[in-house]
Amino acid sequence: MNWDTDILNSRGRVHHTLVDVCAPSDTAEAIEATRAPNHRGIFAYGGGRGYGDTASNNGGRSILTSRLNDIHEFDSKDGRIVYDPGATFELLVQWLLQEMNTGPLRK
Ligand SMILES: Cc1cc2nc3c(=O)[nH]c(=O)nc-3n(C[C@H](O)[C@H](O)[C@H](O)COP(=O)(O)OP(=O)(O)OC[C@H]3O[C@@H](n4cnc5c(N)ncnc54)[C@H](O)[C@@H]3O)c2cc1C
Repeated sequence: MNWDTDILNSRGRVHHTLVDVCAPSDTAEAIEATRAPNHRGIFAYGGGRGYGDTASNNGGRSILTSRLNDIHEFDSKDGRIVYDPGATFELLVQWLLQEMNTGPLRK
């Protein structure tokens, strides 16, 4: 797993933190990353839009979920969708629009 130093944003009073980050591409890499905390520990980081500074971990390590964005299941009857933590609302909307044009949601 590659770790780089980066600046991450959060929505509280801290705004920016300097952390070591990695961006696993699958579950196995994510699990591997959790085994490598430094002295400040290790956090998951999604979009950094949680209330306060819950996603900031200054001087620590953060696992970026941005590449964990697969959509696994969609039930067109009850609207239930199963997806990875890095999938954004934008991605989900794009995916649903595509399903409406070519997939099971097409009328
Ligand atoms: C303008 C605005 C409006 C909002 N409106 C709402 C609203 O109506 N309802 C609502 O519920 N929230 C709302 N929120 C809050 C925000 O949308 C939620 O808290 C959202 O879930 C944050 O997601 P994130 O990926 O940015 O999390 P982050 O800020 O990246 O992380 C938040 C916390 O979750 C942890 N975390 C992140 N990803 C994972 C993971 N995969 N596994 C385990 N822990 C993880 C982080 O370590 C951190 O402690 C709003 C926020 C903003 C800025």
